[in-house]
Amino acid sequence: MTAEPSILATPTTVDTVEQLVEQLFRASDVETLADACSAFADARWPGSRVVRRAPDADSRHADTSRAVLARDAHDRDVLELVGPAAAHVDAEPWPWIARLVRQRLDQLNDLESLFGTVSRLAQAERLQRALFSIADLAATNTDTDRLMHSLHHTISTLMYADNFYVVHYDPVRATIRFPYHVSQYSDNIPAPTATLPLDAIHDSITWHMLRANQPLMGTPESLSRQLGAPLKLLGPPFTDWLGVPMRRGNIVIGGLAVMTFDVSSRYSEQDREVLTYVAQHLQTSLDRREATVELENRIRQRTRALRQTNHVLQEQVLERQRGERLQSALFRIAELTSGADSLDTFYAAIHHIVGTLIYAHNLYIALVSEDDESITFPYSVDEKDTQRPPRPRGNSITEYVLNLGKPLRASSIDIRQLTAAGDMTLQGELPHSWLGVPLIWDNKAMGVLAVQSYSPDYTYEARDQELLTFVSYHIANALQRRQANEELKRAYAEMERRVVERTRALALANRDLRKQVIERERIERRLKYETLHDQLTGLPNRALLLQRLETTIKHYREDPSRLFAVLFIDLDRFKVINDSVGHLVGDDLLFQVGGRIRNCLKSRDTVARLGGDEFAVLLEALRDEDAARHVAERIIDALHQPFHIGVKEIFTSASVGISLASSGYHRAEELLRDADSAMYSAKAGGRHRAATFDDGLRRQALELLEIENDLRRGLTRNAFVPYYQPIMDMRDGRTCGYEALLRWRHPERGVLIPGDFLQIAEESGCIEEIDWQIFAQVCHDARALTDTDGYVSINLSARHFRSSELEGRLLALLEAQQVPATRLRIEITEGTLLESPVRVKRALETFRSHGIRIVLDDFGTGYSSLSYMHQYPIEVLKIDQSFVVNLDESESNQANVVVRAILALANSLGIEVVAEGIETPLQEEVLMRMGCSYGQGFLFSRAQPARILAAAAIPDDARESTP
Ligand code: C2E
Ligand code: CA
Ligand code: CA
Repeated sequence: MTAEPSILATPTTVDTVEQLVEQLFRASDVETLADACSAFADARWPGSRVVRRAPDADSRHADTSRAVLARDAHDRDVLELVGPAAAHVDAEPWPWIARLVRQRLDQLNDLESLFGTVSRLAQAERLQRALFSIADLAATNTDTDRLMHSLHHTISTLMYADNFYVVHYDPVRATIRFPYHVSQYSDNIPAPTATLPLDAIHDSITWHMLRANQPLMGTPESLSRQLGAPLKLLGPPFTDWLGVPMRRGNIVIGGLAVMTFDVSSRYSEQDREVLTYVAQHLQTSLDRREATVELENRIRQRTRALRQTNHVLQEQVLERQRGERLQSALFRIAELTSGADSLDTFYAAIHHIVGTLIYAHNLYIALVSEDDESITFPYSVDEKDTQRPPRPRGNSITEYVLNLGKPLRASSIDIRQLTAAGDMTLQGELPHSWLGVPLIWDNKAMGVLAVQSYSPDYTYEARDQELLTFVSYHIANALQRRQANEELKRAYAEMERRVVERTRALALANRDLRKQVIERERIERRLKYETLHDQLTGLPNRALLLQRLETTIKHYREDPSRLFAVLFIDLDRFKVINDSVGHLVGDDLLFQVGGRIRNCLKSRDTVARLGGDEFAVLLEALRDEDAARHVAERIIDALHQPFHIGVKEIFTSASVGISLASSGYHRAEELLRDADSAMYSAKAGGRHRAATFDDGLRRQALELLEIENDLRRGLTRNAFVPYYQPIMDMRDGRTCGYEALLRWRHPERGVLIPGDFLQIAEESGCIEEIDWQIFAQVCHDARALTDTDGYVSINLSARHFRSSELEGRLLALLEAQQVPATRLRIEITEGTLLESPVRVKRALETFRSHGIRIVLDDFGTGYSSLSYMHQYPIEVLKIDQSFVVNLDESESNQANVVVRAILALANSLGIEVVAEGIETPLQEEVLMRMGCSYGQGFLFSRAQPARILAAAAIPDDARESTP
């Protein structure tokens, strides 16, 4: 702000040159200099004066009323003579005066620039001081109000600032606040704390400044012009206004403003610069101050938070220490429980532990006796009441707690009150403070743990009660466990005693058992021996032989050089010997046979009895095949020597079959089986010899196998059919019945007779199934073949009687085909009767009871004992073909004799007789003469399929025709 031009000094009279010179020397500025000259000129040439003008403005040189009096050295100032004196400018004294003036002008100019410099320096100094003070203000801890006041004062030193305000702007919320506002006129000033929306001062000069984000300066009119927008005055109209924004970064966050209502004062560019500068500085300082305050605040907050945390931690540490103390006390109590110390030391230890937790100079433990009648004090330490003998249950404070079943914490006053109220009686010294807790187990207060203080220095508190209660649970627990332990110890002792007793008893029992075990083992060994040995000869049996053979095969497969062989030995005609000399002799013979075979062998070889008169030998480590054959021959020789049994001398012979090791064998049974077949071939070759199972036999065996497979195929294809051979009543030539004979319609070999396959069928177990196929067809054909008294005879293999279903099945078959049982006859052989007499008898009786007649077939070939006739329900017998074949006319012929005898006996027993295999009319005639009425044979007819016979009468030419 610049001051208005100074008021002119009062004109002094300058009439003389001397006066002028004096004035000139006195003049402190160019104006005064000019004035002094003017006064002199006017005094000499009235109407004249001297004016100051700018040096470039001397365009009017031609004007005679004006003349340059003097110009300074720098040509900055020019003084001109104006008026009549101008004409005399070149005349003395003016040239002289002009020189002087020029000199003074230079001097004054120098002075003036010096002053200017000084004043600028002063201004700069003021500004600097102001900025320092602002920075100082911001740094000090003064409150905002004082800060603002000081700021205002500082700004006042720099410019006219009677009206001053500070505005804060929040650009995010778009709000403003005036923390400081001083105005000469306006009384509508918002409170420093009031926050207003920016829109509240819409279009005001402050609003414009904040929006424009730059300093604004000027009168309302010029501002309005600058902004190109209307200006709304919020207070009385100002003369001049200067405002600068305060920024953080580039963002406006407020501003400072000064204004004047006085026409004489105006704001200059310099003021604007200064205020901008101040604003910037203020903002920086304020930011710094804010940051400091913020930092201090944060430190304060952190410190407070830390102090709080610290406090909590200290509390926790204390709590934990207490907890640890308690826990360690409990551990120690628990330890005590299991410890082996006496109860006295236990209580003392408990006392010690409780003492680490609370004041426990005086402590006692009271326990209720088992009968609940009295109270004992197993432990008591007390400075006053030194003795606590057992006593009957009364009503002292101890019993009070027992009855209460809860802890009691009592002061001497409480105790007195309780005593006065009659709730208890005082026993012993009155304590200052008493604390007792019940010891509870099995849901019952079993005792009391009490501590007391006789001194006012220590009073029990709730915390102590809590602690002691807590401890009391564990003490009760410990006491209970102690007690249980004691009982357990007693029980252990008792048990140990009993264990000793029992051990002794057990030792005795053990000895007996061991004896029994040894006996058992002996029996077991014996049994095992027996299961693997033959009872009669003591030799290994089939099972043991197979076991050893199995091992030998294994070794051979591992090492084929370990050649071995199996011999199958069968005594020739042993059955005959057995039957003729009796079983005992037979047994003796077998025993000796075993011995002789053994003698022919090396010790590592095995001889086994397979059953009956069959023996087998396993020869190991053979040199070659011949070695096996040599052994076999040795055996045959040995057995050919007579045997001496008692006084008897018995001769026998043996046939031996040999099977030699080969890679084709996998199982022991296979070798035995092949040795068996070789033995059969030896027998077939004339007995008393050895035969080796060779390729020929193998082929035969394979053929057998083939047939077996064939048989099974035949079964599935129903290839087995009955052929029927008529049985004749020879007296009238009438057919009285048929025998059903098995035929196999072989797909390649034609119709086969039983001789071709029956043995294999029996051995392979196919025969039953084959028979059932035949029986079914017989039953089917029976009605067509028989009339009222006719019948069909079927042949029943002995194997059928092994099944318990035989009778039922056959009867059911008859019933299914509605064939009366009387239409059926069953033919069996003597061999069948021998196999299992009881079973066969029962079956035959069942058949007989249903009306089926039983026929004894092939009579005369076996034992031919007529005693069977009594034992079994047999009604018919068939004279075997071998007798019929040999019949002739002579009376003395062997066959004739036998047949006649049979017929005589049968007649006497009322048994029907059928002769088989009648081929010639002579045979028929002889039989008829002997009294045999029934017969069958090729003479009458061969066996025929049913469909051929169905034509009822058999044509004569059918006789002798092949089936
Ligand atoms: P077998 O019961 O003694 O039967 C009589 C055999 O003598 C029959 O032989 C028959 O054809 C034959 N034959 C009859 N008349 C004459 C004759 O004048 N001269 C000669 N040389 N032979 C005559 P086949 O049919 O070969 O039967 C043989 C044996 O097979 C039967 O002897 C019987 O034991 C058995 N067999 C026959 N059929 C069956 C059957 O269905 N089941 C069972 N298990 N065995 C049967
Ligand atoms: Ca027969
Ligand atoms: Ca027969």
